[in-house]
Amino acid sequence: MSAESTLRADIVEVGRRMYARGYTASNDGNISVRLGNDRLLMTPKSVCKGFMTPDMMCITDLNGRKLQGDRDPSTEMLMHLEVYRQRPDAQAVVHAHPPIATGFAVAGIPLNRAVLAEVLTTLGSIPIAEYATPSTQELPDAVRKYIKAHDGMLLANHGALTVGADLYSAYYKMETIEHFAKISLVARLLGRENLIAREEVERLQELRGTYGIKAPAPICADDTSPPSAADAAALCQVVEAPFGGGQRLVPDVLPPAAADSGRTGADAEIRLTYRELSNLIEDAVRSLK
Ligand SMILES: [Zn+2]
Repeated sequence: MSAESTLRADIVEVGRRMYARGYTASNDGNISVRLGNDRLLMTPKSVCKGFMTPDMMCITDLNGRKLQGDRDPSTEMLMHLEVYRQRPDAQAVVHAHPPIATGFAVAGIPLNRAVLAEVLTTLGSIPIAEYATPSTQELPDAVRKYIKAHDGMLLANHGALTVGADLYSAYYKMETIEHFAKISLVARLLGRENLIAREEVERLQELRGTYGIKAPAPICADDTSPPSAADAAALCQVVEAPFGGGQRLVPDVLPPAAADSGRTGADAEIRLTYRELSNLIEDAVRSLK
């Protein structure tokens, strides 16, 4: 098989896996890979990623002009073009709507806490790109802020985006994001996340080299004061990791769910058993006598 026919088959396979794992529904999501220096091979618009065939793909130039293919390229082509423009090292781009990660994107909660060593050594932090109307120029504009320093990000109220040195590496990063989101959700439902201490995060960062992992940017601590938030996002991966003071894990009890935390002080809700309430009333009556 030629390089091109192998890549066509790989896109079909990755699309099939994404659909099988529920990362996309209906015609959601899109995939592209570089074809040589000046062309892209891309999924077409309006097809289910679970049922593609190699002949469906489009070939475009780096400005999005269609060079080959019966179908039109993905409606999110502008986002893919922007990623390749900003990241000459990126060979592939994957976009999907994995439900747990997208839930975090809808809740406005980035996956940026130091919780799992393998996420810190590979993706670092997973920020949320600002909300943008899908398929418009707004989306590449939103993605631009983070793409230089991150191989994966959430898209507010939309989905997730990953890039890689080849198609499978971009796809595996999508798997890692959804897996991380699942684990984070469970920990938060259980009411606590033990965070990896900053000293340990620094150690893990050094291990990136040992493992041969090429991360796009270094990890920086959440409370370092960058010149500006926009610059910081472009230059490093901001991870929430408190000082451990000798401990490698720092317990963090999460605040109550947002729905419960609205009322505070005198308006806060308290819960009593029937027996506790009866005792309180009895005490009150007794004190009146
Ligand atoms: Zn989408």
